[in-house]
Amino acid sequence: MSRGGGTSSRVLYERGLRVIPGGVNSPVRAFRAVGGVPVVFERGEGAYLIDVDGRRLLDLVMSWGAMILGHAHPAIVSEVEAAVRGGTSFGAPCPDEVKLAEHICKVVPSVERVRMVSSGTEAVMSAIRLSRAYTHRSKILKFKGCYHGHADSMLVRAGSGVATLSLPDSPGVPPGAAEDTLVAQFNNLDAVADLFDENQDNIAAVIVEPVAGNMGLITPNHGFLEGLQSLTSERGALLIFDEVMTGFRVGPSGAQGLYGITPDLTTFGKVIGGGFPVGAFGGRAEIMDQMAPAGPVYQAGTLSGNPIAMRAGLTTLEHLTDPAVYEALESRSYALVDALANEAKNAGVALQTSVVGGMFGFYFAEHTVNSWEEAETCDRERFASFFHGMLEAGVYLPPSPFEACFISTAHGDSEVEYFQIAAGSVMKTL
Ligand SMILES: *Cc1c(COP(=O)(O)O)cnc(C)c1O
Repeated sequence: MSRGGGTSSRVLYERGLRVIPGGVNSPVRAFRAVGGVPVVFERGEGAYLIDVDGRRLLDLVMSWGAMILGHAHPAIVSEVEAAVRGGTSFGAPCPDEVKLAEHICKVVPSVERVRMVSSGTEAVMSAIRLSRAYTHRSKILKFKGCYHGHADSMLVRAGSGVATLSLPDSPGVPPGAAEDTLVAQFNNLDAVADLFDENQDNIAAVIVEPVAGNMGLITPNHGFLEGLQSLTSERGALLIFDEVMTGFRVGPSGAQGLYGITPDLTTFGKVIGGGFPVGAFGGRAEIMDQMAPAGPVYQAGTLSGNPIAMRAGLTTLEHLTDPAVYEALESRSYALVDALANEAKNAGVALQTSVVGGMFGFYFAEHTVNSWEEAETCDRERFASFFHGMLEAGVYLPPSPFEACFISTAHGDSEVEYFQIAAGSVMKTL
């Protein structure tokens, strides 16, 4: 008898295994990090998901951050219904893509032009092509533990010790695609400066998650993002903020607004699609106008700027213009994390936590966590027990110790209470 999903989830998962590799359409959904049967969901309602066995679970994944207004928000449902009646794809310009682009350019000052794509992966892939074309350089510097989608050149971690010898993370990525990717430790500016010295005039861009949300949640040390900005501008490279996760989640103009940094290019995804497959990349006009058809850098998409997706994204962003929304999200995140920390303390369990806007993270560790190297040493087995205990108590956490948790405007005081009671009972069993 394995843990996780109930009888109907198991039946569907087993059917899925016969026709879908590993039974899922994105690896972390398969519960490999925590064991057991993945939960199959029927529908969502505000802060809750209802699984195919009829269990109602408090959702702290929220489609990996995308559902910032909660599931099936009435305004999104009615706008999308209306949009669908007008036809679902034109393969030609539509009004909402212009409005969404105008909205993004207005609230994110570093973005003067923006191109819509259909996923965060595509946004990053295109921003990298653009930065190479613009600088006439080939190398890209990324940070260990930062995720930038699954394009070949981004599926790379640091080789042991010698960061300049990058190895692909996945079979099928040719060494040639990986060798132009340099990897440094997150929050370590000296490592970045060294890589610039070793690769004189050859680094096109530094790409970073300004708040790292794909290795748990790690905030940038004071001066780290500022240092990246000055190093890139001194060395003639571009600074790309990958805000696929943080954009419109940690503040009205993303992490760049929060920390006061002006990147050259920014990638978006998740929240800007309002639950539909959308990504975008944008930046200074002079750089973005290198994109076809304004310039020579090719990029295209049959469903880019899809009218339904644009309506959902635009409606979502229109609900996020008041900074008070983010203050409320952040205080709710703190309430959840404080509840968790208190219950851990009462149970004598070592826990590290962090919060930024509508996202938070926690590690079962004795020491603070500032990089992948430190995240990696957290207690994964304890996380798996906690995960399954919480699931049984009615709370759906990300099924991996290296993912952030996400809330929505639908998460209120009663959800904090529900969460605290669950966490209290489970911490005692660890
Ligand atoms: C989710 C994510 C991506 C990839 O976006 P997809 O829409 O899943 O392709 C890229 N970068 C960051 C920071 C992300 O969190």
